[in-house]
Amino acid sequence: MAWLGCLGYGTARDLKRIDREPLEAGISLIEGYAVVAAPPKTKSPHPPADSACRLPVHVAQALDTHTYFKVIVGGSFNELGRVAQLARVFAMAGAHALDVSAHPAVVQATLTALDTLPADVARPMVMASFPLDDDPHFRKIQLNRPDCIDCGACLPVCPTRVFDLDAVSGHLHVDEPLCYGCGRCLPVCPTTALDLDAFVLRDGLVQVLADDRVESVEIHSAQADCYLIERCFDDLGPLLAGKYISFCYRPAGLETTHNRAVIETLSRLIPGRFMIQVDGNPMSATSDAQSSRPAIEAALALSPLLRDYPQVDLTVSGGINAHTAHWLRQTMDSSTGKIQPIQVIQGLGMGTFARHWVWDALDASAHPDDAVEQARALLAPFCFPSRHSPC
Ligand code: SF4
Ligand code: SF4
Repeated sequence: MAWLGCLGYGTARDLKRIDREPLEAGISLIEGYAVVAAPPKTKSPHPPADSACRLPVHVAQALDTHTYFKVIVGGSFNELGRVAQLARVFAMAGAHALDVSAHPAVVQATLTALDTLPADVARPMVMASFPLDDDPHFRKIQLNRPDCIDCGACLPVCPTRVFDLDAVSGHLHVDEPLCYGCGRCLPVCPTTALDLDAFVLRDGLVQVLADDRVESVEIHSAQADCYLIERCFDDLGPLLAGKYISFCYRPAGLETTHNRAVIETLSRLIPGRFMIQVDGNPMSATSDAQSSRPAIEAALALSPLLRDYPQVDLTVSGGINAHTAHWLRQTMDSSTGKIQPIQVIQGLGMGTFARHWVWDALDASAHPDDAVEQARALLAPFCFPSRHSPC
């Protein structure tokens, strides 16, 4: 188990330095991305559904028809009651996969919610995510109480209202479960009162991976270091066997040789079908029309490298919102000419935007079906072939 120290959650690295870098920095489209001359990955028959992993048939069909829709219902965000509500609502609405951090309590809340689904609803695939390194998706706010001067500067910048000032005492109150680790609050704090700690811990990860009800895992990586990828599989191999594996990273800005090495390394380590999820504008929590373009353009740029890897499913995340359906069907420029992104991108993962989309309906309505209808309205433009909203 020497590889332990390579995981972000196993290190003593000072994440604060990294966190103070604005998340948006350096994520402008695909600047610096090496131009690739080969044609993009074209639709090619995928291997028949897998003997090597337990990818559910309806999820495989969604990937094959480029209509896969995943909702990140509980990353670092771990308000368990809300995670359970979100899991059930998006399952009822037809999501193909639910992504949660590999934290036992979060996974259990999701599984318990799925146990309450009606028999005619297709159960989404449960995907447990963990960091390979100091990936920013797995962080949780920590308040160093003695350093806080209760100035309130952190309140307006937090997208999920983690902070509040007590009306009587005036002291800062921190609702930690609501935090999803975006880092926006750190630069505005005039003292050293705020910090971010790693969220997923190894003991919990092992427990989650041993659960057969978790069909899929997603490995997040900020650096996409092939050595760390190999060590991860050396260390966790038996626990990963039989799971459908997704590798989430940001290829934009990396050299072509680096991206090629990542694909080759994963293909050597994973028998059969797996996913590369291209991250674009992580944790942007925005409804901005342009926010999904970095992920889409990076996926288009990566696509030619996947031409000889039909076992790789290509999806996008980071900045995904209601506008993404439009961009997927637009004709866009790639390094090889004009292309519709939906021709090569098989689906998406939507996080903060999706959670916020149904948040008010969950708060305001006594009828859970209202939130389900709200969720369906989000999914509908992506044309989901679910039992409830056939294409
Ligand atoms: S701004 Fe981001 S990191 Fe800070 S408390 Fe809110 S969600 Fe957490
Ligand atoms: S900005 Fe910093 S000092 Fe001010 S209330 Fe927030 S945590 Fe406390």
